[in-house]
Amino acid sequence: MATSPLRIQPPQRLLRPLAVPERLLLGPGPSNVPSRILAAGSQQLLGHMHPEVLQIMDEIKTGIQYAFQTQNRLTLAISGTGHCAMEAALLNLLEPGDTVLVTINGIWGQRAVDVSRRLGANVHELLKPLGEYFTPWDIEKGVVQHKPSVLFVTHGESSTGVLQPLEGLGELCHRHGCLLLVDAVASLGGAPIFMDQQGIDVLYSGSQKVLNVPPGSALISFSERAREKMLRRKTKPSSFYLDMGWLANYWGCDREPRRYHHTAPINSFFSLREGLAMLAEMGLESSWERHRANCVQLCQGLCNLGLELFVKEEKARLPTITTVRVPEGYDWKEIISFLMDNHAIEIAGGLGPSLGKVLRIGLMGCNSTSCNVDRVLHALQDALGHCRHSRL
Ligand code: PMP
Repeated sequence: MATSPLRIQPPQRLLRPLAVPERLLLGPGPSNVPSRILAAGSQQLLGHMHPEVLQIMDEIKTGIQYAFQTQNRLTLAISGTGHCAMEAALLNLLEPGDTVLVTINGIWGQRAVDVSRRLGANVHELLKPLGEYFTPWDIEKGVVQHKPSVLFVTHGESSTGVLQPLEGLGELCHRHGCLLLVDAVASLGGAPIFMDQQGIDVLYSGSQKVLNVPPGSALISFSERAREKMLRRKTKPSSFYLDMGWLANYWGCDREPRRYHHTAPINSFFSLREGLAMLAEMGLESSWERHRANCVQLCQGLCNLGLELFVKEEKARLPTITTVRVPEGYDWKEIISFLMDNHAIEIAGGLGPSLGKVLRIGLMGCNSTSCNVDRVLHALQDALGHCRHSRL
């Protein structure tokens, strides 16, 4: 009998059926996906340059323009997650030696610093304690001191639960010859943002939070000012995959015939199209109000349980992700495991600089309901009772 040349056998684990348990995802993302969006993603494939797919991409563009409140021509979805959009924004805007000022009050500013340093930019940091936001005066001081060509701001700091006010920042930046780049991965659809009216030059977001779309696509838009800076580049962007010149063409933003750039994750785009459609059907204002009201109910309930909200000022609380201090004498990991094991609910601990300091509860898109607020409060009450005996 001929001996098989295979040295690695078919893995036994793969020969068993796929197992995906049911969970209520009330962490900082991803959030649960409604059946309409799941169904869209499981449609049969089409070719990535078929006219029907190009039309769906055009529909996605209009959905992003609505969600961002922008008329920018250069608006598209990146084939990647929120980090990919962050990289795309920074690597297209910055050339080696360009100065960028990054506001840091949690992990996302830290990540933007990391990405910018890899690009050879001259990076300055503007710091605030965790749980706080930047005032226009803080920012103007930094801009005047460092004279950056780009300012990076996180709208919804998901590691701390802070909502950064954006009023006046666009105008401030433009007065000092600087572009305003905003990360709205955790806030889009959950808190008001007006790209054009607020003078935001580059805005990006993700799919797996308020839009309730599986992770894998990210939204991005560039103002005319940002486009001009990119056109003035002396060097090519360091990534081919994320080169906005190529992507603009592929997404039909440059009035040239569309050329193949990469094979788009077509089914992800089907899902994204439906997520954006559902947001358009609900209306931004209703969505903002839904997140606000459920966040208020959650905060009240958490206080009633004796927990301490991490963000002191009510108006600075991110409506999509609420943070509480880890209660004295409890192990945060035990609380999280208790909710998962006994209630099939995911909540999260801190991230980066907030690790060990906070618990994070997310209510995003279809997960932002009064019923889910009651469920998570009930589960937390149970956890606080049961994990008490294991006080540190
Ligand atoms: N920015 C913010 C504010 C986020 O909350 C996240 C995801 N937690 C990201 C960026 C990165 O997104 P992703 O995990 O999809 O790469």
